[in-house]
Amino acid sequence: MIRLGLTGFPLNHSLSPQIQAAALHACGLAGSYSLFPIPAGDQRGLHQLLESLRRGELAGLNVTLPHKENVIPFLDELSLVAKSVGAVNTISIKAGRLAGDNTDVPGFLMDLGLHMAGRKAGGMERKTALVLGAGGAARAVVYALTSDGWTVTVAARRLEQARRLAAGFPECGIKAAGLHLTGVEISEVDLIVNATPAGMAPGVEQSPWPEGRPFPARAMVYDLVYNPRLPRLVREARAAGLQATAGLGMLIGQAALAFEIWTGQNPPREAMFEAAAGSLPEDFLQNHTREVPC
Ligand code: NAP
Repeated sequence: MIRLGLTGFPLNHSLSPQIQAAALHACGLAGSYSLFPIPAGDQRGLHQLLESLRRGELAGLNVTLPHKENVIPFLDELSLVAKSVGAVNTISIKAGRLAGDNTDVPGFLMDLGLHMAGRKAGGMERKTALVLGAGGAARAVVYALTSDGWTVTVAARRLEQARRLAAGFPECGIKAAGLHLTGVEISEVDLIVNATPAGMAPGVEQSPWPEGRPFPARAMVYDLVYNPRLPRLVREARAAGLQATAGLGMLIGQAALAFEIWTGQNPPREAMFEAAAGSLPEDFLQNHTREVPC
């Protein structure tokens, strides 16, 4: 019986229980995936949960907002990626030691690679990216992109937050900007990544893109938001003729990689995808099935 779980706060809208239950089922493993809501500031609660992992009462734990950084002092070792990003979303137990990893980074890169595959053939890729937002997910995305050879500008509504993120990767030449994008050479951008929650339910009317600003003509848009099925940014980018996708593929990718760390098995992503999509609004599958790898 493999006991897995997720900590963070709030957790009521998490899709992870359905996604991981589907993975367990598809791999023929008996187990459970529980939610452990721990409010921000409750370091004692976090510590107690991690000690139960150390005692073997849990086999693995996912971590989400607001604890991706908070868990680090309680861990015995970090993967290179988790250390570089400064955030952990997956914890496992290795020979009695609590090990922190970050599967958001490869989960994002793998899904982005799938979506970009057709474009490379056209030889139009310049590898200049604009990342909107400067929180934890943006840091993972920026690390992923720079390690994949992209030139990155980070834009955030608080310029100092974007500058801080850029300064965290001093050797990568990352530029910082405000969300109004003043001074950003928009026409040079090949990829726009939304790493803000703007557009996420219930704030579905929001978009991080500056009102009235045209999109760069040939850019691709990758929105980390996955609920609703088509966030406003994705809809507007598609209406302008751009290739645009929401972030469910990344969510499934990071979950599959976490599952592999815990169990050693590579779960079928299609089953995980269908479990997640089944928990989202009805017409989700229709719009996304072909975008997600099996
Ligand atoms: P975070 O650490 O709280 O950072 C959010 C960033 O967005 C901050 O820069 C924040 O600025 C900015 N922001 C917040 N609301 C905004 C708005 N209405 N307009 C413009 N900027 C806004 O959150 P996170 O962990 O980075 O997550 C960001 C989003 O990515 C969430 O929606 C999350 O669900 C999604 N995500 C998806 C995946 C996936 O697998 N698809 C994985 C990770 C995260 P302030 O600090 O000024 O508020």
